[in-house]
Amino acid sequence: MRRVVIVGYGMAGARLADELRRRDQDISITVVGAEPHAAYNRVLLSTVVAGTMTPESTRLHDERWADEHRVDLRLGWEVREVDRAARTVVVGRAGGDPEPAIPYDALVLATGSVPWVPPAEGLTEDGRLAPGVVAFRTLDDCAQIEAKAGKGMPVAVLGGGLLGIEAARGLAGRGCLVTVVHPVGHLMERQLDPAAGGVLARTLGKLGIEFRLNSMATKYLPGDGLILDDGTHVPAELVVVSAGVRAETSLAVRAGLTVDRGIVVDDALRTSDPRIHAIGDCAQHPGTVSGLVQPAWDQAAVLADRLTGTDPSARYRGTSVVTRLKARDIDLAALGDVHTDVDCPDSEVLCFQEPSRGRYAKLVLRDDRVTGAIVLGAPDAAATITQLYDRGIPAPTDRLALLLGRALPAEAASPADLPSSAVICRCNTVSKGQIVSAWRAGAESLPQLAEATRATTGCGGCKDAVCGLLDWLGASQPAPA
Ligand SMILES: Cc1cc2nc3c(=O)[nH]c(=O)nc-3n(C[C@H](O)[C@H](O)[C@H](O)COP(=O)(O)OP(=O)(O)OC[C@H]3O[C@@H](n4cnc5c(N)ncnc54)[C@H](O)[C@@H]3O)c2cc1C
Repeated sequence: MRRVVIVGYGMAGARLADELRRRDQDISITVVGAEPHAAYNRVLLSTVVAGTMTPESTRLHDERWADEHRVDLRLGWEVREVDRAARTVVVGRAGGDPEPAIPYDALVLATGSVPWVPPAEGLTEDGRLAPGVVAFRTLDDCAQIEAKAGKGMPVAVLGGGLLGIEAARGLAGRGCLVTVVHPVGHLMERQLDPAAGGVLARTLGKLGIEFRLNSMATKYLPGDGLILDDGTHVPAELVVVSAGVRAETSLAVRAGLTVDRGIVVDDALRTSDPRIHAIGDCAQHPGTVSGLVQPAWDQAAVLADRLTGTDPSARYRGTSVVTRLKARDIDLAALGDVHTDVDCPDSEVLCFQEPSRGRYAKLVLRDDRVTGAIVLGAPDAAATITQLYDRGIPAPTDRLALLLGRALPAEAASPADLPSSAVICRCNTVSKGQIVSAWRAGAESLPQLAEATRATTGCGGCKDAVCGLLDWLGASQPAPA
């Protein structure tokens, strides 16, 4: 029997274990996870900080999962070394003595990423975050933020990327006085152009959040706040670090694997040692957008096909991702290449902005297909444009109607036309196929579907699409997806 050992019980590791067992009832699966919790949906942590979801409701597996699926789960254990010659891993409980080594035929590194801490004086002490400074990566971080962040308390968020904005919105919702410190001239620069970043900042400003753009913290004064590079002071009794992540590669480096920004893998998700694989945030694949869940889960499916022999020729070719901001009162979707200029000769670029109402939409098309978009404050347009992008079908000729959310392309009008793999719920990465299967298994109402698949339980933005699927399923009794 083949022995697969997975290092990391996060979103990629947990998914891989599920995919392996679904394909093969006999394969031996060991999962070693350093966090003390059952796997959870990290994407939903901002809703925990905002107080709209409990930590329990973010769980991907319950306590019975390992027994029911015959997985040797070592919760709160860490892999310390890999002995490639002996094909074993050295393990132990966090802080404990080494336990007997675990042998593997195939080893999968799914060690994720760790927060990057800006080099400001005083933010760390003895290699750890100083008291009053919290990262935003784990359920334990959320518990710390929740315990510390009080109404009326000045809080600084370091980083104005997706996670920083989600943290800031959640904290503002708790009544904190939030200032976001961001080293770039506009927010979410990876996903937004300057104009969209400006509209977002304005919208968040109306919700009480302040911004210090083009600024870096140089010093942390405990209990008092931050000194920025222009010498000014930002009051903060709590500092939340959300300034980016770096792949957790230390184990791979010690094992002598090829590591660049992440653990380098090929299309078969093999590292420089063909018996060792890497998936998720820790892996560096040429077509990967690192730091997002959809590539991690696509990789888990490909690797499960290969490791179980279901499809030994399966290859991972990259993932086109759609980013959604999960922040109350703000609807923002960004996808593809959004940085194309309006006067770019081989693209069609349309832009619409209404900053006073928090609306901004930019659409980039090439050969009639959507290749990029930013849609802020226009959920109807976001839904249609995302569908066109996912399916790669031609956009309707009335571009303006599309941009304003008044167009529904004929091809996308019926859920029947969506491919089974179309992602309906992006927070939980639930596809149309999973919804159809759950419905066939008896989940015929919205709460039952939410219970069975978790669709709609994140930001809730997919509720209309799921209801549309339910209506269609009820009316048409389609063939299995
Ligand atoms: C607040 C927040 C919001 C996010 N929102 C989005 C979003 O909207 N959309 C999106 O696509 N992505 C989002 N992400 C990113 C997404 O969560 C990650 O891409 C995803 O979690 C990657 O999965 P992973 O398994 O590779 O890493 P992780 O989920 O980080 O899991 C890695 C696990 O490995 C464990 N580990 C590490 N080293 C060892 C070791 N030596 N031994 C044992 N265990 C080890 C770690 O403790 C951890 O539990 C968000 C992340 C955060 C923090």
